[in-house]
Amino acid sequence: MNSINIENNLKSLQLQYPPIFNKMDHEKYVNDWREQYVGKTYAVLRPSNTEEVSNILKFASENNITIVPQGGNTGLCGGATPDKSGNSIIISLEKMNKIRSFNKQAKTITVDAGVILSSIHEKVEQEDLFFPLSLGAKGSCMIGGNLSTNAGGVNVLKYGNSRELCLGLEVVLPDGKIMNLLTELKKDNTGYDLKNLFIGAEGTLGIITRATFKLFPLPKKITTFFVEASTIFNALKLLNVLQLEFPGSIESFEIMPNTFWVVAKNNIDNIVMPLEKIPEMGVLVDISSYSNIDIRQNDKGEIPIINKIENILAECLENNLISDATICSNEAQSKALWSIREAGAESEKKELKKSNLIKCLKHDISLPLESIESFHEEAQKMINNFLPNLKTIFFGHLGDGNLHYNVFGNGSLPDGFNGKSIELTEKLYEIVHKYNGSFSAEHGIGQLKKESLKKHKNNVAYSLMQTIKNQIDPKGIMNPGKIL
Ligand SMILES: Cc1cc2nc3c(=O)[nH]c(=O)nc-3n(C[C@H](O)[C@H](O)[C@H](O)COP(=O)(O)OP(=O)(O)OC[C@H]3O[C@@H](n4cnc5c(N)ncnc54)[C@H](O)[C@@H]3O)c2cc1C
Repeated sequence: MNSINIENNLKSLQLQYPPIFNKMDHEKYVNDWREQYVGKTYAVLRPSNTEEVSNILKFASENNITIVPQGGNTGLCGGATPDKSGNSIIISLEKMNKIRSFNKQAKTITVDAGVILSSIHEKVEQEDLFFPLSLGAKGSCMIGGNLSTNAGGVNVLKYGNSRELCLGLEVVLPDGKIMNLLTELKKDNTGYDLKNLFIGAEGTLGIITRATFKLFPLPKKITTFFVEASTIFNALKLLNVLQLEFPGSIESFEIMPNTFWVVAKNNIDNIVMPLEKIPEMGVLVDISSYSNIDIRQNDKGEIPIINKIENILAECLENNLISDATICSNEAQSKALWSIREAGAESEKKELKKSNLIKCLKHDISLPLESIESFHEEAQKMINNFLPNLKTIFFGHLGDGNLHYNVFGNGSLPDGFNGKSIELTEKLYEIVHKYNGSFSAEHGIGQLKKESLKKHKNNVAYSLMQTIKNQIDPKGIMNPGKIL
């Protein structure tokens, strides 16, 4: 079919919102957030409901037109960026942004795939409920993108990844068939778990159009505090102490070491540092309280939860587990600290633009907690021996074993790594592998980690993934060049 016919046929689908054909208007859809991938698209379609998605996919399948699904386009692996051929069509879910139902009693919510993550927070918090999926991009990422990457974020330690929060899905298959797996049930043992096949599939198997999620009681109070530990080992010992003292109440446990703060200080306007000096191994912790007894001032004028945290931190100071600490006394302080943590990726992006460092290698890895310190030591040795003056900036969700372990190049070398960046990443992944970790913790594979997946995934599992892909998408129209 020639391009005039495609254009006429797309118009004849009579979508509520017209296709965007003008190349000038494609920019925000064809560049990825990190500005590492730039593609081209024939058109951007913005369906308004599941039937429109189905009609588009049926048309695409009949005419062998490749499709790139897109949510908020905040993915960090090039998964939502089309290739440079300009032959793919981007399906943006941005117009499918309605909350479909909310069941306070059952603590569930059903939303369209294009709903922005923070809109779910706002909706349910008005009703004293809590949706725990939260990440730095929450104001622009969309729930369909979150599911398609099985997003993690800051509350995985207590509640799990997107997958653990999702009860049901509606998916449009590559041939346009609508598969309705929407359910509020907590138990549903009816054969293969197809829902979980589409979660984390990064748009390579179909388009998620709607989903139902579990909700949780909204904590009456979240207490945020920040401590300095001297090593990762001590930070993890602190996690153990806190888990014993506050079982089931640690919402987040994030690491923000010295190098993180240096970049943050350089790039965040009016940053307020939590401690007097830049912390060696800073840790940001949120602890939830559900009982009035814990959060109301007692006769002595003390708030029991704060009192308890103060006592525990004092003991940790005495035992040299930590060297400094501060407890946020109000929500504004807590928000300010969290905004620094959530700006981690943005600060790095600004730092890269400013400096003459050419490249930064991003690694999103996870490790068993007991191996993180040994991994870090070995990785640092390898990086220091690899090339002079490389700089590692790591931070992330230490409580669940996930680190963003990024290596900045040496500005005086071509591309920062003398053309050996792939070799460095592979050496790092070998160390991750040695310690039984994963080279892809929460951002997915996209275009960035395709080769690593081939290398590190179990062979039998990799070939089964190919078989599943070929079976569900025999024409290969769904998000080509991603994952496999
Ligand atoms: C500042 C910042 C902080 C971040 N922090 C975290 C974090 O803590 N944890 C984390 O996990 N990620 C994090 N991310 C990465 C990113 O936000 C997540 O991967 C997010 O889930 C992507 O959602 P999105 O709507 O932007 O998806 P997109 O970027 O639009 O798409 C991501 C992938 O999903 C596919 N896709 C999108 N929508 C659909 C759909 N409806 N059906 C099928 N496929 C679809 C796309 O084709 C693509 O492969 C962060 C990103 C930024 C910029």
